[in-house]
Amino acid sequence: MEVSRHPVSVPTRPPGGRTNAYVIGADPALLLDPAGRSDALDRAVQDRTVGHICCTHTHPDHVGALEHYARETDGAVWALRGRASSFERATGVRPDRTIGDGGTLPCAEGLEIRYAPGHASDHVIVHAKAAGVAFVGDCAVDEGSVVVGAPDGVMRAYLTTLRRLRAWDLERLYPGHGPVIDDPEATLERLLAHRLAREERVKEAVEERPADLEGLLERAYDKDLTGVEDLARATVMAHLAKLEREGRVCWEPAPR
Ligand SMILES: [Zn+2]
Repeated sequence: MEVSRHPVSVPTRPPGGRTNAYVIGADPALLLDPAGRSDALDRAVQDRTVGHICCTHTHPDHVGALEHYARETDGAVWALRGRASSFERATGVRPDRTIGDGGTLPCAEGLEIRYAPGHASDHVIVHAKAAGVAFVGDCAVDEGSVVVGAPDGVMRAYLTTLRRLRAWDLERLYPGHGPVIDDPEATLERLLAHRLAREERVKEAVEERPADLEGLLERAYDKDLTGVEDLARATVMAHLAKLEREGRVCWEPAPR
């Protein structure tokens, strides 16, 4: 299966900077996550018939040039079923078609769309079963981790998504940011372990009964959070929501 990866610049904060747009297959091709324009991406879409355009999720760093390429190519724009209006608000494009979990795009490669919430509530993965690969958007990265922040990010769902991906036994993952992941199992294990370790820290921090959320943050992270406090706060809230749902903690700040 033909795959070309095009890192394009996006005007968002880290871990943004660059997002991978992908051109997948040739008969016709799928343009995935057209986050921005580049000469190489322009050439790639001119060189072949783009039949389909979609994004793994509608965060701004994944859809920046979707409107442009929807106009410049004949590709049908696909949105997740039930999310057509939020898709249009985020991208400026009314989708031509919608597709649900387990649906297959009509192209030679048999690309299956799988619902994969966690990082975002409208996140999907494109699974190319025959090739043993998946385009995972912001579900996985080769180095570091992705943001799973409440309220749109849901930690329980993210862990389920990671475990499901692991069960597919893939040969390669194509992420939304950074290099291709050649050892999916090791990366997925690392990401799962990272979340469970942070969860344990959050649980311990709650048990120390800090006076407020700031105190909880300080205990759950022992690094300087300057500039990323809002992300850390959203992440801790996502961990708390999971722990509370599982009946494992009850977050109640100590009275001053
Ligand atoms: Zn992203």
